[in-house]
Amino acid sequence: MNASVLVINCGSSSIKYALVPSEPDRPRLAGLAERLGGGDAQLRGVDSRGESFTQALGEADHTRALEAILDRLEGRRPFAVGHRIVHGGESFTRAALIDDDVVDAIERTSALAPLHNPANLEGVAATRRLFPDLPQVAVFDTAFHQSLPPRAYRYALPDALYRDHAIRRYGFHGTSHAYVSRRADRLGGLGGGAWLTAHLGNGCSTCAVWQGQSLDTSMGLTPLEGLAMGTRSGDVDPGLHAHLSRQLGWSLDRIDEVLNRNSGLLGLSGLTNDMRELEAAEAQGHPGAALAIEVFCYRIAKSLAALSCALPRLDGLVFTGGIGENSALVRERVIGLLPHFGLQLNRTVNSETIRGREGRIDAGGRQLWVIPTDEEGQIADETRQRLVQKGRNHT
Ligand code: ADP
Repeated sequence: MNASVLVINCGSSSIKYALVPSEPDRPRLAGLAERLGGGDAQLRGVDSRGESFTQALGEADHTRALEAILDRLEGRRPFAVGHRIVHGGESFTRAALIDDDVVDAIERTSALAPLHNPANLEGVAATRRLFPDLPQVAVFDTAFHQSLPPRAYRYALPDALYRDHAIRRYGFHGTSHAYVSRRADRLGGLGGGAWLTAHLGNGCSTCAVWQGQSLDTSMGLTPLEGLAMGTRSGDVDPGLHAHLSRQLGWSLDRIDEVLNRNSGLLGLSGLTNDMRELEAAEAQGHPGAALAIEVFCYRIAKSLAALSCALPRLDGLVFTGGIGENSALVRERVIGLLPHFGLQLNRTVNSETIRGREGRIDAGGRQLWVIPTDEEGQIADETRQRLVQKGRNHT
């Protein structure tokens, strides 16, 4: 049976896609259309033989890019489309079959993710036009964290801000934390374990997962809260905004820009947000690079220690994302900052577990895993599950 799902992650000027077959050993067709809306859009990707291609798209919009993507599917027709949607607010606790009501509900949540949800919806609209007969499913970054209890999702703010304006912690990277924690359950033979997961890419977040449910996570109302990231500050004193405004005369837009784009690893190092370059610079004695890595690792360890309060016990830690999967140095330093957690790192296996390889890196004690994330695979799985449930409800 053909159960390939076309996974679409649509940004304001880009579309990431993957055609995910249900058989894990069949190759995926995947790629990225970027610079959409400008005059020099292009599509890059890999075909079924694993060969890369680049195609100039000229003045393409989202619809034109999707048509070009369709041509690259080598005649393989998906049976459904799964859309990554960043913010589902409190309306969506799981994936949803897209219809006009669901689109309206996502639109109503756009105030919480003004940069992401409208772009995601543009992809939904173009895909519905191009594939009117295919079922389309919305898979939300926030949905996995809807299991957080109030003590974890409420800010200590006046109640009306939550009741009237939905101001609360939502959490993001839900598909990644869901995928790696389920995979850790399977690999660790625990069946519903208590995990701390660290997704460390350009965006970074931690999560406490118990019996397959997220109980707390480091990101909040927006993806700016929590860890120090590539270019994002993560947690700062909430008084910082008023201070910068009153003392330096900065506008809210400027503060937003600095905290989102000029901070984190880039801001601290004054060099780059790329962990590979920072590791190389630190080895050459660059003090900014050394400080950036130190703050980055300390903040991860501190966040994991804090999130351990959400769990009834701790079975282990999982690292994922570009840095979590590849940087043996970051993993070793984070684990070294948690001596009271009873973690024993196998340094040899840790240094060999790189380039997207799955591996167990402990030397006994609590389990330590490196698990390459698979957000596309998770979105495809949730899309299939949603459609199976719909089928059951109709019979
Ligand atoms: P995104 O969040 O944009 O999807 P990724 O998950 O791809 O990003 O992570 C990007 C980060 O992973 C960058 O900081 C990059 O330097 C880092 N990274 C990739 N490969 C390595 C490596 N071999 N060693 C250290 N860091 C790496």
